[in-house]
Amino acid sequence: MKQIVVISGKGGTGKTVITAAFAALAKNACFADCDVDAADLHLLLNPKIKQKHDFKSGKTAKIDIDLCRRCNRCFGVCRFEAIKEDFTIDSINCEGCGICAYICPVKAITMQDNLSGEWFISETKYGPMVHAKLGIAEENSGKLVTLVKKQSKKIAEDFQKDYLIVDGPPGIGCPVIASLANVDIALIVTEPTYSGMHDMQRVIDLANHFGIKTKVIINKYDINLKNTKEIIKKCELQAVGVLGQLPFTKEVSQSLLKNMPIPEFTQHQITREISKIWKKIQISIHRQ
Ligand code: SF4
Ligand code: SF4
Repeated sequence: MKQIVVISGKGGTGKTVITAAFAALAKNACFADCDVDAADLHLLLNPKIKQKHDFKSGKTAKIDIDLCRRCNRCFGVCRFEAIKEDFTIDSINCEGCGICAYICPVKAITMQDNLSGEWFISETKYGPMVHAKLGIAEENSGKLVTLVKKQSKKIAEDFQKDYLIVDGPPGIGCPVIASLANVDIALIVTEPTYSGMHDMQRVIDLANHFGIKTKVIINKYDINLKNTKEIIKKCELQAVGVLGQLPFTKEVSQSLLKNMPIPEFTQHQITREISKIWKKIQISIHRQ
């Protein structure tokens, strides 16, 4: 089973649209949406949820008022001003360090798991999918990404899938690093804008750092042909292959409105180009 992750230096480059298109083209694959802060692969793959699980991350202190003797020791040790005058805990301020529970002479404080989100195992018409929803303002998305990757890999192996196709998080932070773990190829989706070029370079550097095979897809190449040439040149200099260039076309927004992966929506030129890219990925991935 080969793992493919689709990433971009920032959101809004068409990463999820392209991932969904590969999902529709792949014959025997499992999918993971690791963009847990802004998950939207489900909008295109229309999964039916089969299993729903809580995602617990970190701890928050809780005071049992009946046991508390108002000795104020916990006030003295909490550096985050999370303990209120009425001996309740401000869950926003509490960092879960556990010092208050340790110091309390009557064991009135317990540390409780935080419910930080949910994750799902679903079925789509293209294959099984693992996805998640991180709670508002919750952190630890890297941990949730690792969980989604692990579960999707297990399903892909159990069902003898040929591919695990991962919609990765944007940026170069902890969630992206988590999504890159053990992948066979990282596909970087970029656009021919200055910020697009800059972000592409940052993810190339990140993937290189981890020794991951990297290829680039230029989306909306025709909005700035000069910059597209510049991207191709930059990639050549670093021996990073450009797998294809996709045009800016209204078919993409129309397919989004219909909640359909592009290859299902249209046989327009963009679908032919994505199909060519998908074939190149298969060749590249089996060559290593
Ligand atoms: S240390 Fe324990 S007993 Fe003392 S005020 Fe805090 S919760 Fe109450
Ligand atoms: S766990 Fe740490 S941060 Fe939270 S209330 Fe106790 S001492 Fe303060």
